[in-house]
Amino acid sequence: MRRRPTLESHSARTTELGDISIVRALPTRARRMVGPWCFLDRYGPVNFTSEKPMDVAPHPHMGLQTVAWLLDGEIVHNDSLGCEALMHAGQLNLMTAGKGIAHAEETPKRNSGRLSGLQLWVALPDEHQRTDPLFDHYASLPEVELPEGKVIVVLGEMFGQRSPARSFSPIIGAELSIRKAGKITLPLKRDFEHALFVLDGEVTFGDEPLRHEMLHYIGEDRDEFELRASEDSRVLLIGGEAFERPVLMWWNFVGRTHEELAQAREDWEQHRRFGEVSAYRGPRMTAPEMLSTFLSR
Ligand code: MN
Repeated sequence: MRRRPTLESHSARTTELGDISIVRALPTRARRMVGPWCFLDRYGPVNFTSEKPMDVAPHPHMGLQTVAWLLDGEIVHNDSLGCEALMHAGQLNLMTAGKGIAHAEETPKRNSGRLSGLQLWVALPDEHQRTDPLFDHYASLPEVELPEGKVIVVLGEMFGQRSPARSFSPIIGAELSIRKAGKITLPLKRDFEHALFVLDGEVTFGDEPLRHEMLHYIGEDRDEFELRASEDSRVLLIGGEAFERPVLMWWNFVGRTHEELAQAREDWEQHRRFGEVSAYRGPRMTAPEMLSTFLSR
């Protein structure tokens, strides 16, 4: 019997980091993951004049991939493998943390004075959790022109266009554009679960308006879906095969046990495993305290 497809809308949390407003749409209390996606931060848009609005000091990651996707502006990435990458809108910085890496992200000295983007994490499946760390920069990604819009395939495949980005489990990530008064119909894989997040504009899913600052989870068992826009709009689509059970997350780490997360914290504090980001001028981040209530869960 066919299950009726769902539409669950989850409120995101909003915070400020200096000049930048951040909307965290994943994880939420009721929705921890969408396929392998386990973290979604939307920051900006912001216009700035003198200060550099993004200055994230060196910090570690484990068990995940970081997906940095810009809608406007520039970011420079430096990591403990010695990789440096300047990223513009429409380009992808993809860091596979695996067993451990550290990185820093900053607004470069020469910049447009604008910043708007997304920071997402993809959990690595069990068999790739401890893979060697890697960094990849993709200067361009496949685009599919539609009569009333466009699709950029960031991760995975859509309309026969496969993103070159490295992935470790069945996944989709795409930026969808819909022109004012336009409509797009997108094919989906039935065994993937999916969610939508509005980046800008006014969009309806079927007859449902998709509110901003919410994660709209649309579940599995869909062959396609339709979006309509009353003004020029952009929407992020994320999805993939659901994990059998949600991963554990603490600070910047993804794992399966509390012990491995505590060990990762200890290794960062003791300057082991993750390496140093020598290109960054300034102190690195200190790990927060790990509460004993977390350890005893
Ligand atoms: Mn990071």
